[in-house]
Amino acid sequence: MAKDIDWGSLGFQYTAADYRVVSKYKDGKWSDLELTTDSTVHISECAGVLQYAQTVFEGLKAYRTADGKIVTFRPDLNAQRLKDSAERLAIPAVPEEMFLEALDMLVKANEEYVPPYGSGATLYVRPYIYGSGPVIGVAPAPEYEFRMICMPVGPYFKGGAKPIVIKVSDYDRAAPHGTGNIKAGLNYAMSLFAGEQAHAEGFSENMYLDAATRTYVEETGGANFLFITKDGKVVTPKSNSILPSITRRSLMIVAKDILGLETEERPVPFEEVPEFAECGLCGTAAVISPVGKINDHGKEICFPSGMEEMGPTIKKLYDTLTGIQMGTVEGPEGWIREIK
Ligand SMILES: *Cc1c(COP(=O)(O)O)cnc(C)c1O
Repeated sequence: MAKDIDWGSLGFQYTAADYRVVSKYKDGKWSDLELTTDSTVHISECAGVLQYAQTVFEGLKAYRTADGKIVTFRPDLNAQRLKDSAERLAIPAVPEEMFLEALDMLVKANEEYVPPYGSGATLYVRPYIYGSGPVIGVAPAPEYEFRMICMPVGPYFKGGAKPIVIKVSDYDRAAPHGTGNIKAGLNYAMSLFAGEQAHAEGFSENMYLDAATRTYVEETGGANFLFITKDGKVVTPKSNSILPSITRRSLMIVAKDILGLETEERPVPFEEVPEFAECGLCGTAAVISPVGKINDHGKEICFPSGMEEMGPTIKKLYDTLTGIQMGTVEGPEGWIREIK
């Protein structure tokens, strides 16, 4: 039975669920997955993660559907992306089957924390791998831990999705040929200062431009851009330093194959942004956050969709994808994986 939690008032915050799944990498292999109630990790004071930020992570959700099942959305893509991220930071990869097995174990063990259908709340799952063994000379750590934790999180939009205002950042998020395309803690550590500054100035997020020329749109600190042209085309920026969002990739398929819209993934010059009709930020947490305004060093770009509600095309995309996730809309084959 579900825990006695006021699901609607939950925020996006860490709370310890009863169980987490752990595996340790030593002498070239991963140990068997284990469930534990211990929410504390015990590692060397010289661990690779502490000295040289050797850590990668993922983020996905488990949902309770209208007919009472517990499902996850395209977790095979999270498994693949974690593998890609790990390889780039010389971290041993966790095989896809092991990732999915850990996910099943974790969600099943914490079933009481999966919020009920209709509450708007979900179970957020955070898998990560980090260097736990000691290193002082610059090198990959000798030992690693793979951990998967979860926590119930509230509805992202309480009382409707209000468009946000973001600013064009003077900082860079990711270098060409750097680590922008992987989900690594280091990409977030270096965005915190810029993020805090933007918040202090009253903006919700930073829009980062390409580091080499500062003329193309990249993404925010943790979400990809989607733009809608005035004639209804769905456009998303293409760049090797953007993190390949699973939400964004799925929305592009929904747009083309389910809603019959034209889609384009291509470099988007910042100069073109004032011509778009709608703008949104895509990621697992919010699915799509509508953007109403972009502040470019005091000059405002105001989208015609305004500051009151989501634009019509972004709303359609949002409703269709959340419908697929909650089991009220039929999605493409293989997108929904039931936890049994
Ligand atoms: C996780 C993340 C996203 C969103 O990816 P999803 O797979 O849709 O959750 C976008 N940008 C960055 C930088 C991210 O780390």
